Formats: sequence, structure tokens, C-alpha cells
Amino acid sequence: MTQRPKRARGKRKPGDEAQPSLQFNVSTLLQEPIGNRRYYQVLDAPIELERETTSVSGPVDMMRTDGSILVTAELALAVQESCSVCLDPFKLPLELELREEFWPEVDPLSHLPLDVPDEREGFPVVEAQLDLSEAIRQYVVMARPISTRCGADCPGPPVVAGMTFQFSADEAEPDSGTGSDTPATSTIDTRWAALRRLRDEIGPDGPGGSEQEED
Ligand SMILES: [Zn+2]
Repeated sequence: MTQRPKRARGKRKPGDEAQPSLQFNVSTLLQEPIGNRRYYQVLDAPIELERETTSVSGPVDMMRTDGSILVTAELALAVQESCSVCLDPFKLPLELELREEFWPEVDPLSHLPLDVPDEREGFPVVEAQLDLSEAIRQYVVMARPISTRCGADCPGPPVVAGMTFQFSADEAEPDSGTGSDTPATSTIDTRWAALRRLRDEIGPDGPGGSEQEED
């Protein structure tokens, strides 16, 4: 039910270059003086993430530094998530504020191999191609929330065959059964069910010194 946010297509600042991919040829910029810049508008550039392919949009600013290209970008994308409450899949919009240095592997003029200075890090520029994909993948991993909710109209925990799924055992109320003959399990989180079965097998007083079956 989530709609893609409408992005301002075609509305660009003068000098921006529309860019439908995350690969940039920086061979010229690498030979320019420190401080020289390029501005791009990434528009629906495809990117493969861990479990899905999605697209990225947003402004990208590149600046030549003493050895690298400093990329500053505000990128918007939507990733597939599952709601922590109702378990339904939904699209979660993410905004990434990316700021990374990209280092050429060889000197653009002498073509001699270059090393990234010890105190600095970043991503490689390979054969004058600067690829934002890997940086974005890492930012997406950091930006994904641990727990997600699909929205204000989330229908709540699913009800399956009379079982109410709960978030945690603490929220479960064993005595609130609805008349079935196994009230204690009717509201237990499914993830706890195996533990509960184990406990029932062992007995309420615990293992009593013999956790493992012995003959
Ligand atoms: Zn939900």
C-alpha cells in the first residue's frame, strides 16, 4: 500500500548532470586541481542490495581533494521490510546522508600505484570509475531499523487459527484463554512455543539434575 514518494524529476540546479546510474567516470576530475567539483542528480539508479534490487535518487557532490574524491550525497531509496507487528511486507523509505572519500588505485598522471593514507579510509576508484554502490549498500545496512512498523494503519498481530501472536512472553497472559483446554499456550509467542514444550516435558520444577535423557 505504500506509494513511491514523488520525486522532483527534471527539477535540477544549473550545472547538475542527470545520472541514471551509480557509476561515474572521474578520469577528468582526478586530473583537476584540489577543490574542483562535479554535481550530479542521480535519478532512479538501480542498485542490488542483499535481498532485492531497488533504485536510488538524489544529489551527489564530488570534490577533488589532495588525494581522493570526496563524495557528499543525499540519497533516497525504498527497501523491502517486514512489519515487526503484523509481519506484512512493506516498502520502507530510507534517506542516506553519504560522505565518503574515494581513492584512485593508480596516479591519474603517472599511473603508478597509490596507497590510501593510513589515517584515512574510503572506497576505491577503479580505472577512473567511481562506483557508489558498495558505499550505499553499507549505509543501507546501518540505516535499516532493528524493528519496523508498516504504518499507522497496521492491523496488529496476526490471528491464526485461534492463536494470538505476541511480541514477547511478558505480554502474554497465560490465564486469558478463551475457554479452550490449553489456555496457557493460546497467547504465547510462537518463538517461545518450543521452549514451553520443553518445559512441559521436563516438568514445572525444572530439570531436577537430569537434563538429558538417560537410560
Ligand atoms: Zn504492520
